[in-house]
Amino acid sequence: MGGEKVSEAMSELRPAPWITRDSSFFWEAAKRCELVAQRCTGCGKLRQPPRPMCPFCNSVEREEQVLSGKGTVYTWVMPRYPVIPGFEDGRIVVVIDLAEGIRMVSNLCDIAYEDVTREMCVEVFFEEAQDGFKIPLFRPASV
Ligand SMILES: [Zn+2]
Repeated sequence: MGGEKVSEAMSELRPAPWITRDSSFFWEAAKRCELVAQRCTGCGKLRQPPRPMCPFCNSVEREEQVLSGKGTVYTWVMPRYPVIPGFEDGRIVVVIDLAEGIRMVSNLCDIAYEDVTREMCVEVFFEEAQDGFKIPLFRPASV
């Protein structure tokens, strides 16, 4: 089938992210290689993951804040099964403590699983995905 050929050719790129009304700003910023989070304009706290209402003060007002992209490893795991279509095997799934005090789930790249340590310094980079999207991923910090 012709359609299968196309998806095979594109399979080197990750699938495009699942976009919601609350998360679209995050993925649009990622296209510009910016890591962002929602900041509540009611109480000033960051919301991660994005959501319509502040869990601290119930405000629905928010603005976008650009983050440093720096953080440390909180925990990590190497999923082995099931293999998810569109994702290569052997990606380290990591929870990052971002410098701004929120946590983010991503992949940790450019390092062997056995070399990952708790609280190691990491930084964001952006990987091309399908449909022109970019995915924020992390790697050991350069400095
Ligand atoms: Zn709030």
